[in-house]
Amino acid sequence: MQVVQSVADATALGREGAKRRVLVPTMGALHRGHFELIRIAREAAGQGGQVGVSIFVNPLQFAPGGDYEKYPRHEADDEEFCRSAGADILFRPTPAEMYAADFSVAIEENALSTTLCGKSRPGHFRGVCTVVTKLFHVLAPDAAVFGEKDFQQLAIIRRVVRDLNFQIEIIGAPTVRESDGLACSSRNQSLSATERQQAPVLHAALVEGARLAAGGEQSAPAIVVAARNVIDTAPLARIDYLELVNADTLQSIEIFQPNSLIALAVLFGHTRLIDNIRIP
Ligand code: AMP
Repeated sequence: MQVVQSVADATALGREGAKRRVLVPTMGALHRGHFELIRIAREAAGQGGQVGVSIFVNPLQFAPGGDYEKYPRHEADDEEFCRSAGADILFRPTPAEMYAADFSVAIEENALSTTLCGKSRPGHFRGVCTVVTKLFHVLAPDAAVFGEKDFQQLAIIRRVVRDLNFQIEIIGAPTVRESDGLACSSRNQSLSATERQQAPVLHAALVEGARLAAGGEQSAPAIVVAARNVIDTAPLARIDYLELVNADTLQSIEIFQPNSLIALAVLFGHTRLIDNIRIP
C-alpha cells in the first residue's frame, strides 16, 4: 500500500497498469462500515484495479465550535486497517495541504442540502461537496463508494457528479450495524456506557416506522409519532429531527408513498448520531 500525504504525490500516483481506480473517502477512525466500503470498492475495481482510501477530517464541514477538534484520530491503527483491508493507496493529507490559507472557492448543492441535516448543520454539505470535489480531482477515480448511512450525503454527491459532469460512478453501500442494530459510526466511541445502551432505539424507531408503513398506515405524522415514541423510551436521547421524506427529493411528505425514507438525527449529550431506513 502506498501512503501519500501531499497533493503533488497523490496527483502523480501512477495507475501502474490498473484498469480502474475506486476511491473510498473517509474521515478515519475506521470501523466495520468502512471495511465494507473498501470490500465493495475492491469488487468494483475488478481484477488488476486499484482501491484508494482517503482519510481527512475536513474542517470545512464542521461548524465553528463543533466537534472538529474532538473528532477521533487514530493514524497508526487506521493505516494498519487499510493495509489489512487490502487498499492499494492511502491518501492522508493535512488541512494545510488541502486548503491554502486564502482558499476561496466552494461547491454548493442547493436543493437536497436544504432539508434534514442541512437544516441543523448550515454549511456542512458545502464543506462535504467541496472536499469530495477536490478528492475527485486529486485522485481521479473511475468510481467512488459512499455509505447509505449518510443517505443525504450520498444523494448530494450523486447530484454534484451529475450536475458538474464528473465521469465518476457513485456506488452506494448498505449500512453496517452492530448486533443490537446501532449503525457503526466513528462517533459511537464518544458515547458513555449508558448512552451506548440506549442508542439502539434509533434503529428500533426506524424499524417501527417502516413496519407501520408496510402495514398500510398512510399518515406520515402517525408513522413519525410511532417512531418518536420509541426514541422517547431512551431518557438520554434528544431528537434533532425525525422525518418521513421522499427518497429522491428528501422533502417531507404528508401521505406515505413508496420510495420513502425515514431519516433521523438524535443527540446523546454532545454526540450526534444519524440513521435512516428506506421504504421501497
Ligand atoms: P465517515 O468516515 O464517517 O465520514 O464515513 C466515510 C464513509 O463511510 C461515508 O461514505 C459513510 O457513509 C460511510 N459509512 C460510515 N458508517 C457506515 C456504516 N455503518 N455502514 C456503511 N457505511 C458507513
